[in-house]
Amino acid sequence: MIDAGRHPLIELLTCSEVIGLDGEAGDFTARVLKKSRYISEKDCTGCGECAPACPVIVPNEFEAGMGARKAVFIPFQQAIPFAYMIDKEACLNDNFIVCERCANACDKKAIDYDMPDQVLELPVSAVVVATGFDEMDPTPLRSFGYGLHENVLYSLEFERLTNSTGPTRGRILRPSDQRAVSSIGFINCVGSRALRYNPYCSSVCCMFTTKQAMVARETSPELQSHIFFIDLRAAGKGFRNYMDHAVTDYGIHYIRGRPSKVVETENQDLVIYYEDTSTGQVSRLTVEMVVLATSLVPNRSIVTLSEVLGMELNEHHFVKTAPYSPACSSREGVYVCGFCQGPVGIAESVTMASSAASLAAELALARVGKEA
Ligand SMILES: Cc1cc2nc3c(=O)[nH]c(=O)nc-3n(C[C@H](O)[C@H](O)[C@H](O)COP(=O)(O)OP(=O)(O)OC[C@H]3O[C@@H](n4cnc5c(N)ncnc54)[C@H](O)[C@@H]3O)c2cc1C
Ligand code: SF4
Ligand code: SF4
Repeated sequence: MIDAGRHPLIELLTCSEVIGLDGEAGDFTARVLKKSRYISEKDCTGCGECAPACPVIVPNEFEAGMGARKAVFIPFQQAIPFAYMIDKEACLNDNFIVCERCANACDKKAIDYDMPDQVLELPVSAVVVATGFDEMDPTPLRSFGYGLHENVLYSLEFERLTNSTGPTRGRILRPSDQRAVSSIGFINCVGSRALRYNPYCSSVCCMFTTKQAMVARETSPELQSHIFFIDLRAAGKGFRNYMDHAVTDYGIHYIRGRPSKVVETENQDLVIYYEDTSTGQVSRLTVEMVVLATSLVPNRSIVTLSEVLGMELNEHHFVKTAPYSPACSSREGVYVCGFCQGPVGIAESVTMASSAASLAAELALARVGKEA
């Protein structure tokens, strides 16, 4: 990101979305809505003096709601550009209330509450769609207890808990009592491979759950992790060895079985009821935290975006691609990569990005050739 931000031939348009695409492959005009940050990217130095002055505290989306931020904020510490922005929905400053504490705290005079949105018209040869995924909301799967029991998390929340810049600075603490946990039950395929929710496999959960269990173990040698799975899909070079390493060197316990419910005890531990499908034995396991690897779905913005770009989606809202050209959407000149075309991990997303970029570059170079 830093390299892209500094590159003389790359213009990053943050807080922006494509709202129109006219023309044809090699000669498009893209209309882009650049939403106002209410803070000048050019003048803001990222000093952060404004945030402590702000009286409004709201949940921090980047921390999956587990931390808090102010109404004037920077989305995350490595954000490019390194400039603050104002959440107008949360900000007190409107026609009826005058707050302006942040503007008064800002020596650089970077804040402008009346800064308008802009619509840009950009001549482009090609478009690459890389809108990625959202994690399914596990609340409707009530038997797993998300939203009912405080110590049931879903995987993105857990990812933030294990991160040294996250809300607990990388310590795995139970949300109910902020105590370090000694046992975790990871449940794979929550909402995936399920006819009532998403029939497809999310493809990456078997591996990232293994990673999360190993990271958890690294924080404490006493921490025991159990991973419930339907079958293990370690489809990638070295992936199976990685899982074997998790068992032999990290003591991770895999249980073949799909849990039916999670019940909370009086002291807010969690009892997982399951059938071990390798023995047919119905059993239960008590742990201090449960992490749900919920189904990964295409980013919700893709439905509107597909209409704007004139490209087709499949029945699960992944972008439909040509059978032997996985980077080509149904509209010529609109290419795709990463999770928006189907469940893939980071390495495959990067490979596909190279492919989409080279197809886009072909169109751009043809245009340069014509103009020369
Ligand atoms: C908890 C968890 C842990 C994981 N751990 C690993 C791991 O260890 N290794 C691994 O290989 N994979 C891991 N994965 C999978 C990995 O996150 C994905 O493979 C990867 O993020 C896909 O990259 P992407 O660029 O396609 O999409 P994303 O990373 O989802 O990026 C898409 C970007 O597009 C933006 N966007 C969406 N819609 C629009 C729009 N309309 N206009 C403008 N911007 C838009 C989004 O805000 C986002 O920034 C993990 C996934 C989860 C849930
Ligand atoms: S808006 Fe002003 S006070 Fe806030 S980070 Fe930017 S320069 Fe600093
Ligand atoms: S004007 Fe808005 S963002 Fe600025 S300090 Fe007041 S409430 Fe916070």
